[in-house]
Order: sequence, then structure tokens, then C-alpha cells
Amino acid sequence: MTTGNSAPAGRTVKCPGCGGPSLFSPENRWRPFCSERCRTADLGAWAEDRYRVAAASQDTESPPPDPQRLGPDGH
Ligand SMILES: [Zn+2]
Repeated sequence: MTTGNSAPAGRTVKCPGCGGPSLFSPENRWRPFCSERCRTADLGAWAEDRYRVAAASQDTESPPPDPQRLGPDGH
């Protein structure tokens, strides 16, 4: 449903760093951030936060080792 939307390649997204408009296109190498500053500034906190989430998720997703080790044990 494109009604005469003559927009150039790429679009504007919300910069995760500052929340401002960011050009999401190959031209913007910092996408989805608006600039290198936002990217580097947000990377630390973001990575840390993600690490925590990933760790927590992993802990929750990974089931504990079965107490009953059923299966071919070889010997
Ligand atoms: Zn930004």
C-alpha cells in the first residue's frame, strides 16, 4: 500500500542511544544509532544489560541436569 511515498532508500528510526531520529540506511554506518557517539556510548550499557538478560535467560532456559541419568552408558 504505497501511495506515492517517494522516500529515498532507508528510513528514519529511533536511535536507541538518544531516542532521536536516526537514518537507517547503508549510508549510516552507526545504524540503528544516529551517530558513532550514540553507538559507543550505548554499547557499554546495552551489552552489559544484554549480558545479564542473556545469562538469566540461559539459566532459565537451560534445564538442570537430570538426576536420573537414563541412557546408553556404554558400560
Ligand atoms: Zn542518537
